[in-house]
Amino acid sequence: MGIDLGTANTLVYVSGKGIVLQEPSVVAIDKHDGTALAVGEDAKKMLGRTPGDVMALRPLRDGVIADSDITEMMLSQFIRRVNEGKMFRPIIVIGIPSGVTGVERRAVMDAAEKAGAKEVYLIEEPVAAAIGAGLPVAEPTGNMIIDIGGGTTEVAVLSLQGTVLSESVRVAGDELSDSISQYMKKVHNLVIGERTAEDIKIQVGSAYPTEDDDDPIMEVRGLHLLSGLPRTVSIKGGEIRESMAEPLAVIVDAVKRTLERTPPELAADIIDRGIMLAGGGALLRGLDTLIGHETGIVTHVAADPLSCVVLGTGRVLENFSQLGRVFSRRSRKV
Ligand code: ADP
Ligand code: MG
Repeated sequence: MGIDLGTANTLVYVSGKGIVLQEPSVVAIDKHDGTALAVGEDAKKMLGRTPGDVMALRPLRDGVIADSDITEMMLSQFIRRVNEGKMFRPIIVIGIPSGVTGVERRAVMDAAEKAGAKEVYLIEEPVAAAIGAGLPVAEPTGNMIIDIGGGTTEVAVLSLQGTVLSESVRVAGDELSDSISQYMKKVHNLVIGERTAEDIKIQVGSAYPTEDDDDPIMEVRGLHLLSGLPRTVSIKGGEIRESMAEPLAVIVDAVKRTLERTPPELAADIIDRGIMLAGGGALLRGLDTLIGHETGIVTHVAADPLSCVVLGTGRVLENFSQLGRVFSRRSRKV
């Protein structure tokens, strides 16, 4: 079983079957007794809509494990859902953000073991993403992968199945959505929730102006700050792009900094091969063009950016003998 434990989404891959689960990393908790009322999609629907005694939260929010008990609860749920009715205990490969600390790694492994894993291996997300995106990570060639998730952007240069250098910034998809919320409040006096901000980003957001001048328009509903009443406001794609300029610049700077630190031979490889974008954030329109312009290096978006990490864990699982070196940590046999 391969798992991408992401800050926004968790995916599970089963050998021979492919991706069998893809759910938001959200848990709804009953505040009275701390039990999970819903996990995944059902819990995400509750974000921003819960009554006083229910709390919907994202345990991995900022790329670190903000709440390890709840992360454990969520991971166990997902593993059980996939493994239901099976007698054997699975070997589990988990992709985790590289910023996760040793203690947090241990917590993830414990959670997987408690949920029934026979053995647990952890793999750094950029490595898994690169494998999943089809990059030739086993070759002595430099590859650059940028994984833009919900909470973190990870920029990594890989060669010979290893990370040569990497940088992780806590600015990614969530931060882009937050910028939109703040902009709507400041300029349109409209208060919107996290989900609406994400919808705006996905529907009309972009990182670089498109060739056709046809600026998309969207009707946004929220709470008017001055009257305190619900109101609909019409917004344009161009203003949304500008509202995200700051977090986009942070992402671009992280890429530039990593390129500057890259040894020359590997840098030459990257110029030849281009940069690969993965993670849900890679789906933002024009992000490849922006990064391409800012770095002068051709930038590609992976075929299925949201699935790269889990596909990578799946490939590692199915090719253990060749790819066994990629693990950053392995559980002791229990
Ligand atoms: P993580 O690995 O942290 O779980 P994902 O790779 O699943 O994150 O990406 C989630 C992020 O991608 C969210 O911030 C989400 O808003 C963003 N995202 C998903 N689809 C799109 C899209 N079409 N355009 C822009 N951003 C998107
Ligand atoms: Mg991810």
